[in-house]
Amino acid sequence: MNPTYRFDGQVALVTGAASGMGLATARAFAEAGAAVVLADLNETAAQQEADALIRAGHRALGIGCDVTDEAQTAAAVDLCVDRFGRLDMAFNNAGVQAPPQDAAEENAESFDLVSAVNLRGVWAAMKHELRHMRRQGSGAIVNCSSLGGLVGLPERAAYHASKHGVIGLTKSAAVEYAPKGVRINAVCPGVIDTPMVADMVANQAEAMAEILKQQPIGRLGRAEEMAAAVLWLCSPGASFVTGIALPVDGGFTAH
Ligand code: NAD
Repeated sequence: MNPTYRFDGQVALVTGAASGMGLATARAFAEAGAAVVLADLNETAAQQEADALIRAGHRALGIGCDVTDEAQTAAAVDLCVDRFGRLDMAFNNAGVQAPPQDAAEENAESFDLVSAVNLRGVWAAMKHELRHMRRQGSGAIVNCSSLGGLVGLPERAAYHASKHGVIGLTKSAAVEYAPKGVRINAVCPGVIDTPMVADMVANQAEAMAEILKQQPIGRLGRAEEMAAAVLWLCSPGASFVTGIALPVDGGFTAH
């Protein structure tokens, strides 16, 4: 999937790295030569995945981190720098889905959770990554938004609000940090075959059929296809690209 990028000597941090597209991206960074820190709420899984990368000859570290807690998130970034000496790339990917809900019925706990993980978590990670990157005068950050950051859908108001927010964070910080040598972009995945959508794939045939109709390529995306987009955005190939929200969605948002 990633035969061309080389990140030897560089260091990457991925949040939500124990599963899905975070894990695929952490693996892709490692295979491209970067040292990788895998941070996840699920500490055991993050460590297991890091150990598997180390056994395969890569440099990796798996740590527990709840991105809703700014102190934990700051500590994860600092640990990355302490262990590997620098921070060149970050994929702020940790996120949760909210159950579909009529906008008139949505409960505050659900709204607060998706906001805390998907928006505040990206804010906290980016804030502390930037503190290191501004000292270095270089870096590339990719924040995980969604097709839900670009369009509205029924019964998805809270999730889509959090993902629209990620694009606002990305654009403003990108404008601020472009002169300081740091590029910041967002990716907007369509529906990707990960554990987040496993239940829908297994049990909601009607919803799946609707999605396949909306993704003109006619299939779910693969986590490795997201990883490829993230690595491109972090690579010298994207050296003039900052402040964008890149749909990787099989055409979902094209119509
Ligand atoms: P996933 O459920 O497979 O992985 C998400 C990971 O985030 C898990 O390992 C989980 O433990 C971790 N996580 C959850 N809360 C956390 C927290 N508070 N702190 C740290 N880690 C936490 O999901 P995925 O499909 O790989 O999703 C990754 C990102 O992509 C999310 O931001 C999601 O909203 C976004 N996204 C997914 C899809 C899709 O179709 N799968 C579509 C658009 C956007």
